[in-house]
Amino acid sequence: MRPITVKYQGECRKCGATLVAGESAIYERHVGLFCPECEPKEAEDIRTYRQEAADRKADRYEDWATKRREKASAQLNSHPEIRHDWAFITQPGRIPFRDRMNKADGRAFESIHVAERMEAKAESLRHVRVKGDAEKRWQGLRDLNTNRFKVGDVVNTGIYGKGTILKINKKTAKVGNTGTSGTFTVNVDLAFLSPITSLNS
Ligand SMILES: [Zn+2]
Repeated sequence: MRPITVKYQGECRKCGATLVAGESAIYERHVGLFCPECEPKEAEDIRTYRQEAADRKADRYEDWATKRREKASAQLNSHPEIRHDWAFITQPGRIPFRDRMNKADGRAFESIHVAERMEAKAESLRHVRVKGDAEKRWQGLRDLNTNRFKVGDVVNTGIYGKGTILKINKKTAKVGNTGTSGTFTVNVDLAFLSPITSLNS
């Protein structure tokens, strides 16, 4: 969300007040305009507005996709009386109607692919993110590792390779490792630790 000067008259998404050209407002693409005092500031508030806008847009993509699929499937099921007639399918030589049908079928398949891309786009649009989400994910991994590992465990540390946990702090772990270049200890973000698997043991 960012402050702008209104260029075209609009309405505040929250209170509905009219915002006229020249006024200050808060704006986010696809989400809309807010009067400065209505600006959503809490992460969950921002998420609600973004989710609403994203869902509206995603619904539109899904509607388009559905219409495309219906049209394409009507084409692919057209003229059933002749479509499955083996002579019609295999007769050598040019049959203009058969050519047209093949071309139209090709377009219908392409249209289904476009519909699939639209559905994928709708799906990804629905995953709205706000500031703080990434940190929450990292913290979730740290909590998981704090619970499943203890001092003395041998773990995979990502870039530092295999190591033994010497100490578990709030956000990091002190890990010791004896490798070809000697023994070292390093502080690793708890989120980076993972169990040793047969692949990297
Ligand atoms: Zn307002």
